[in-house]
Amino acid sequence: MNSNSATPQSPWVERSLRSVWHPCTQMQHHENVPLIALSHGRGAWLYDHEGRRYLDAISSWWVNLFGHANPRINAALKDQLDRLEHAMLAGFTHEPVVQLSERLSNLTDGVLGHCFYASDGASAVEIALKMSFHAWRNSGLTDKQEFVCVQGGYHGETIGALAVTDVALFKDAYGPLLRAAHVVASPDARGAQEGETAQDVARRAASDVERLFIERGNHIAAIIIEPLVQCATGMAMHDPLYLSLVRALCDRYQVHLILDEIAVGCGRSGTFFACEQAVTNGNIAWPDFLCLSKGISGGYLPLSLVMTKDEIYQKFYSPDVTRGFLHSHSYTGNPLACRAALATLDIFIEDDVLHNNRVRAARLTQALAPLAQHERVRHFRQRGMIWAFDAVEPDPAASASFSKRFFSNAVEHELLLRPIGRTVYMMPPYILGDDEIDLLATRTLAVFEQTIKAN
Ligand SMILES: *Cc1c(COP(=O)(O)O)cnc(C)c1O
Repeated sequence: MNSNSATPQSPWVERSLRSVWHPCTQMQHHENVPLIALSHGRGAWLYDHEGRRYLDAISSWWVNLFGHANPRINAALKDQLDRLEHAMLAGFTHEPVVQLSERLSNLTDGVLGHCFYASDGASAVEIALKMSFHAWRNSGLTDKQEFVCVQGGYHGETIGALAVTDVALFKDAYGPLLRAAHVVASPDARGAQEGETAQDVARRAASDVERLFIERGNHIAAIIIEPLVQCATGMAMHDPLYLSLVRALCDRYQVHLILDEIAVGCGRSGTFFACEQAVTNGNIAWPDFLCLSKGISGGYLPLSLVMTKDEIYQKFYSPDVTRGFLHSHSYTGNPLACRAALATLDIFIEDDVLHNNRVRAARLTQALAPLAQHERVRHFRQRGMIWAFDAVEPDPAASASFSKRFFSNAVEHELLLRPIGRTVYMMPPYILGDDEIDLLATRTLAVFEQTIKAN
C-alpha cells in the first residue's frame, strides 16, 4: 500500500497542470486531489513514474476491453502502420474499413448492414440524429424534427448530443444553447414502488413513451436510448422488456429507434450488443440506428460508427446529391482504428470472451457479496461486466465529497475507481484473472469502509 502524500511527485504533474486543460475537471480541485502521471500500462494495470500501480477497474473511462499494451492488438497496429495509416474515405476505401463493416453487419445477421464512421461517441450520436431527421425528410415527412430522450440519459457533450442528454451536471450551464428535446420517464429498476418488479417499472416507463407518441408522434423523428444500463447517470439498470416495448411503439407510431451502445456495446452488457437481450415479436429488437464507440477499438484509438438498416440507406440513394448524407469527419474510417477494431473482434472469437466473461462475472459478484450485504449499501446491481451500488451517506457534507474521497482512498489501495456521486461502480477490462478479481473485491470493500468511516 502506498501513500500519495509521502511519495515523490513526477515533474509531469506540475507541467501538466500548467499546460493541459483536463477533461471533465474543475482544475482547482487538483490543489487537493492528486493528478497521476502515467508512464505505461500492462494488462489491467496502469503504472506511474514512481512505479506505483493502479488496477484499471473502470477500463479507462469504459474503453479498454483487453488490457493495456495488448500484444495482439499491438501487433495488428504495427502491421497496419507500415501499410496505410490514413486516407480519406470519400472516393476511396480500404481493407480494414470494409472488413470491419462486414463483420459488424454479420453480428446483426445483416439487419444493420450499413456502417457510417466517425471518431468519437458524441459524433456518432450527432450522425444518428441527423440521419433520422434526413431520412424522414427524404420520405416527405418534413414535420418530423423532434427528438425524445430518457430521463437520466447521456449521449455525449457536443451541442446536439447534449440536447438529448439529461444529466444536469453536464447540461445546465449550456441550456440556452440547446434545442429542447422531450424527456420521458426513466425505466430505472430502482424506481420500483412497493410490490413492483423491474418489469412493472419498464411497462410504466414505456407507457409514458406511448403517451408522448400519441400526442406528438407526427413531429417526432426518433427516440434515443442507452439500452439496459444508463451509465453516466450512475449505472441505472432496466429490464430488457423496456426495449422490446419501445421497439414495438416505434413501429406502431413511425418513430426511429436510436440505440446508443457506445458504453454498453462490445460485450459490456453480457451479449455483444445490449439489444440482443430484448425481443419484439420473436425477433431481436434491433434499432433503426445503433451507435458504437468506446470499446470497439479495444480502447486504443478514437473510432465510432452508426449502423443502420437498408431501408434507411435506400432513402438517401438517389441521383440528387442533396438527398445524400453530406456529413464527414477528417478521420472518418481511419485504417489504424479499424485495424485495432478487427483485432479486438478477433479476440472475442479466439478467447470465447462472452462465455468466459460470464465465469469472471460470477466470481466477482460472489467476491463482492460482503459489499452487497453491507448495511451502508443500497441497490447492489450487475449486468454483464458492469457492477454498481449506492452508498448510504446520511451526512450531506460527507455525501457531497464521497466521490472524491473514495477516489483518493482507492488510489492508495492501487485501484482506479471513480464513483458517480454516491454510486460506486466497476467496469473492468475482460482479462481479469482470479487473483485480480479477488484483489479488486477485497480492496473495494476496504476503500468503502475507509471512506464511510472517515466522517
Ligand atoms: C461516452 C458516451 C458517449 C460519448 O462518447 P464520447 O466519445 O465521449 O464523445 C455517448 N453515449 C454514451 C452512452 C456514452 O457512454
